[in-house]
Amino acid sequence: MKKFFGVTIAVSMIIVLVAAICLKEAKILKNNGISGIETKISDKTKEPSNSTDKTNDNGTKKETPTAPSSTKQPDDKEKVKPKTAPVKSKPVIALTFDDGPHPQHTVQIVNALKKYNGHATFFVVGNRVEKYPGVVKQISQNGNQIGNHSYNHKQLTKLSESGIKSDLKKTSDILQKTISKKPSIVRPTYGSVNNRVKSSAGAPLILWSIDTLDWKTKNKTTTVNKVVSRAKDGDIVLMHDLYKPSAQAAEAIIQKLTAKGYKLVTIDELFATRGVKPQNGQVYNNAYKKK
Ligand SMILES: [Zn+2]
Repeated sequence: MKKFFGVTIAVSMIIVLVAAICLKEAKILKNNGISGIETKISDKTKEPSNSTDKTNDNGTKKETPTAPSSTKQPDDKEKVKPKTAPVKSKPVIALTFDDGPHPQHTVQIVNALKKYNGHATFFVVGNRVEKYPGVVKQISQNGNQIGNHSYNHKQLTKLSESGIKSDLKKTSDILQKTISKKPSIVRPTYGSVNNRVKSSAGAPLILWSIDTLDWKTKNKTTTVNKVVSRAKDGDIVLMHDLYKPSAQAAEAIIQKLTAKGYKLVTIDELFATRGVKPQNGQVYNNAYKKK
């Protein structure tokens, strides 16, 4: 009997012990299980927003087929896009006007540039600066650049070295007197350049990439179309401010190019945007970006 009691006590004690251990373990398992599920749930809720952030950062990618919540994306994109959009520099164009100044047409062009916050370069002839100093002041005061286009429009290639130098200096001195500033650039008359002109000019020689031939056609629409259809970043456009159709064309060109997103700049500004310093005696036709 004693033996029987002893065994049952021992067995029941073991049962109690095992039961206690099992209960404890069950609790631990239960706790672990719940917290495990919670983290998984929270991971899942985070995932969609992470993936939409990634696509927005890339900017170029639209919806990925695996993205779980497509309804949230448009909202997120609208909020994120303005912050991540890269700042693009505007394409630039330098309009240039030769042979002036002219008391009406030049002023008309200067006013149009002012209206659209643009600048241009006027390559003036010395003897006309003497006639219309007020117009030259007006060009300069509005942030436009003045360049040297000789004293009386002689072809520089037909002059001697000293002839070229004295002709350009005469105009330069007149400009110094008129606007208290010497011109830093030259446009050779007729676009004619030889080695003598290069070595005697003492300034960068600015030619062009778009020749409107406005002096020949004297037609507003033809001139406007020529510029607006061809214009690209870094162009230098040749026009003449002596003619009424040219001034009218310039007004339309300034309005249209500005609307297309171009910034109208002086020759100095054009090369400054490219980080280029034009060198004396060198010929420049454009300021296209190097590929
Ligand atoms: Zn000319």
